[in-house]
Formats: sequence, structure tokens, C-alpha cells
Amino acid sequence: MRSVRQKNTKPEITVRRLAHRLGLRFRVNRKDLPGTPDIVFPKYHTVIFVHGCFWHRHPECKRATTPKTRVEFWQEKFEKNQERDARKIAHLKDLGWRVEVIWECETENKAALEERLRSIFTLPCRVLPQCEP
Ligand SMILES: [Zn+2]
Repeated sequence: MRSVRQKNTKPEITVRRLAHRLGLRFRVNRKDLPGTPDIVFPKYHTVIFVHGCFWHRHPECKRATTPKTRVEFWQEKFEKNQERDARKIAHLKDLGWRVEVIWECETENKAALEERLRSIFTLPCRVLPQCEP
């Protein structure tokens, strides 16, 4: 199973690729920021975490299953992950960053993901050709 700390996951790369196509400038894994956010958009003072649904417990998501064995171990682990996430996000907000979380399952529908990025960065609907009315 994947570790929480893994970088350059497929969902992360999907989000970066799309952000790049939308003409957004970003940095990855800025270690000088709390929690080393996955993608940092300095111009918008915004960071994006791309969270795996299983490890970070996407609410109501079918991927956020709990393994049938060692239930207590997993529950404790999940709680710690969630606490850590909440702490990172609060810390970044204290520093004046806008924090967005994109879930792994949200990166599969490219059109929906594009809409999400457009709304985060209030981009006009004409950057990409398929967006024409
Ligand atoms: Zn999910």
C-alpha cells in the first residue's frame, strides 16, 4: 500500500498537468511551507493538496474503506492522518494562504477537474478549446 508521504502520485500529476494547460504558474512540494503542500500557486496565494481518498479519508467516498483486520490500528492511523491534515491546513491559513483540497477520485473526471480549477482561480472559460460555448 502507498505511504501517505509519497510524492508525484498520479492524481497529483493529473492536477499539475491541467493547471499547466490552464496557464497557471506553480511550484511543487515547497518545503518551506507547513506540511509541504503538493502544489503552490504563489501569485494566487493558494495551495492545493491532492489527497488520496483512502489515506486521508474522503467523506462518503467508496474508496475510504477500512480494512477488515487490525481495525483499531487502522482507525488510529486514519485519525492521526486527519489530525495532521487539519493542523497543516490551519497553519497555512494562519499564514494567509488559501488552502484547497482536491480528492483523488475528483481527478478522474477531467472536465469536472477543469471546472474545479477554473473556479478556484476564477479563470475565464476560454483558455481551453473545448470550453467554447
Ligand atoms: Zn474520494
